Amino acid sequence: MTEFFATGQLPDEYQQLAKTVADFAKNVVAPVAAEHDANHTFPYEVVAGMAEMGLFGLPFPEEYGGMGGDYFALCLALEELGKVDQSVAITLEAGVSLGAMPIYRFGNELQKQEWLPQLTSGRALAAFGLTEPGAGSDAGGTRTTAKLVGASEATGDVTGASEATGDVTGASEATGGGSGGEWIINGNKQFITNSGTDITKLVTVTAVTGVTDGGKKEISTILVPASTPGFTAEPAYNKVGWNASDTHPLTFTDVRVPEENLLGERGRGYANFLRILDEGRIAIAALSVGAAQGCVDESVKYAKEREAFGRPIGQNQAIAFKIARMEARAHTARTAYYDAAALMLSGKPFKKHAAIAKLVASEAAMDNARDATQIHGGYGFMNEYTVARHYRDSKILEIGEGTTEVQLMLIAREVGL
Ligand SMILES: Cc1cc2nc3c(=O)[nH]c(=O)nc-3n(C[C@H](O)[C@H](O)[C@H](O)COP(=O)(O)OP(=O)(O)OC[C@H]3O[C@@H](n4cnc5c(N)ncnc54)[C@H](O)[C@@H]3O)c2cc1C
Repeated sequence: MTEFFATGQLPDEYQQLAKTVADFAKNVVAPVAAEHDANHTFPYEVVAGMAEMGLFGLPFPEEYGGMGGDYFALCLALEELGKVDQSVAITLEAGVSLGAMPIYRFGNELQKQEWLPQLTSGRALAAFGLTEPGAGSDAGGTRTTAKLVGASEATGDVTGASEATGDVTGASEATGGGSGGEWIINGNKQFITNSGTDITKLVTVTAVTGVTDGGKKEISTILVPASTPGFTAEPAYNKVGWNASDTHPLTFTDVRVPEENLLGERGRGYANFLRILDEGRIAIAALSVGAAQGCVDESVKYAKEREAFGRPIGQNQAIAFKIARMEARAHTARTAYYDAAALMLSGKPFKKHAAIAKLVASEAAMDNARDATQIHGGYGFMNEYTVARHYRDSKILEIGEGTTEVQLMLIAREVGL
């Protein structure tokens, strides 16, 4: 996709993909969603089904086991899954956009060959370890350290970057340079998706690897195989929603990995992760649009079926207008992510548009979930109802991959404030 498509006017291949994923969501995901949510279990069988369909490889070239599609295709798949089950959708989003994409964007050829075929096939998951107990929105406050020992040569063209400058360039072939040394990693990460499943094979972490010439923290990104001694995925969180998605705190105690596990250029770790988050916001927007639309679809159905005072509740203008407003929110949010994806894929600046898409789509999901629950009355408060899950699940859309306030900060900066 390098152009903007009107909603409902997608080229055949995108329409077919959306339909295939919608069928999968209806026939495979929906029947088990309430059970996995209630039991807080990871839906391995659903993930295997998505893997078989090639969804984990959607935006990657075939040479790395991918489907040769693009990021917009991933977004369409996330929208369809998000209508039915946000936990499943975020498992895919985090697996592709946060897990595999950093390696595709910033890895050297050896790293790509080693990791991408496993990740794009969905046989393995990688996690994205940025957030720490003391560093969330202000992720540059990273305290996790990685010390290089036994290296044959010093390396490091160190440049800083921040959410403020958005100064990010890829370093696809860059490595740390020397070899024979080891990184020793110590610290903690928090709220990391897909980090403790039976198929989690890798966590990519940001860590402080030194001090820049300007006296700032030098933050780099390092690949940590999940089997490395000293790495622990602590017990899973007890969350408000996304109960079937896997989220853990992580500890690193003298974790030793080869020097070659540096991902991208030394000192560019934070900058590279910010680029990944810019893209990820489009994906989260697509997932959010799915949630918002799922709430519309459930509400339309229910408003036609449920009778009160002798007629379907949808015949009351108060209910019809509520649903009309929900539809308008989902639609405008969809156009926002289509637009951001088109800019990104045509190589144009897209930071502001991704932030806008994430902002309006996550709010649409939360607002629609609240309205859909209201329309469902007491049943809307029962966990087995899809809208009840959306009510609990949608809140995190306004927090993860940059809070609403962070999106507003980015947009404000982009308009010159
Ligand atoms: C279920 C789940 C999954 C997650 N998955 C991942 C993952 O896979 N990888 C990963 O690295 N992280 C992950 N996260 C972390 C997530 O990205 C962070 O929680 C989020 O970025 C916010 O950081 P924080 O929780 O530290 O909140 P804080 O940064 O402490 O923010 C607290 C509040 O203060 C506001 N605030 C902060 N600074 C400002 C400011 N300057 N102006 C105005 N308001 C401000 C925030 O918007 C927020 O409302 C996940 C979180 C959850 C809950």
